[in-house]
Amino acid sequence: MTKITPRKEALARGLKRYFSGNPCPHGHVAERWINGECVECVRERSREYYAANRAKLQERSREWAKKYRERERKRYAANREKNRERVRKWRAENPEKYRKLKERERKRRGENSEKYRERERKRYAANREKNREWVRKWRAENPEKYRNLKEKERKRRGENLEKYREMERKRYAANREKIRERSREYYADNRAKHQERSRKWRAANLEQARASSRKSSSKYLRNLREDRRNEIIPY
Ligand SMILES: [Zn+2]
Repeated sequence: MTKITPRKEALARGLKRYFSGNPCPHGHVAERWINGECVECVRERSREYYAANRAKLQERSREWAKKYRERERKRYAANREKNRERVRKWRAENPEKYRKLKERERKRRGENSEKYRERERKRYAANREKNREWVRKWRAENPEKYRNLKEKERKRRGENLEKYREMERKRYAANREKIRERSREYYADNRAKHQERSRKWRAANLEQARASSRKSSSKYLRNLREDRRNEIIPY
C-alpha cells in the first residue's frame, strides 16, 4: 500500500502526486495528481480515449515520425561533411564500441534478414536512377577506392567461391525470368552501340580479330565433331 502523503506535503517536497488514502468518486483508492485528479481514473480515461481513437492516433504518430525523420534527414544533409567527420573520429577513437555496434547490427539483420532485404530492395527500387547516378559519380571521383573495393570483393569471392556460386545460382533461379528479360532489354537497347564498338575494335585489331574468330570457329567445329562422335547430335 502506498504511504499516506498529504497534498500539502507533496507540494512542499515538489512531488507530482500525493496520496490521501481516500477513495475517488469511482472507488479507486489510488494516488492523485497534484491537481486532485485520480491517477487511476486518468489512466482509464486515456486508455478509453486511445481505444476509441486508435486509427486517428496511429495516423498522427506515423505522421509525426515521418516529419521527424524528414527533419533529421535535412539536418544531416545540411551538416553532412561535419557529421561524417564526427563519425569517422568516433570510430577511430572507439574501435571496440564500433565493433560491438556493428556486431549487434549484423545480428539484428540476421534475425530479420528478410525484412531488411525487402526494405533495402524497396528503397533501392524507389531511388534506382538516383542511386546509379550516385554510384557512377562516386566511382569516377574515387577510382583508387573503387579498385580496392573490387579487389577486396574479388578476394572474398575467391576465398568463398562455392558459397558465392551457390548464392548466385539461387539468385538466378529465383529471378530467372526477370534476369533474362532484363538482359534481353539491355541488349535491345544497346545493340547498335555494341555492334559499333565491336566493328571499331575489329577494324583497329584486324589480326587479333581474325585469329580470335579462327580460334572460336575451330573451337566450334571441334565441339561439333566431338558431339557427333558422342552421338549427342544425330548428324
Ligand atoms: Zn478514480
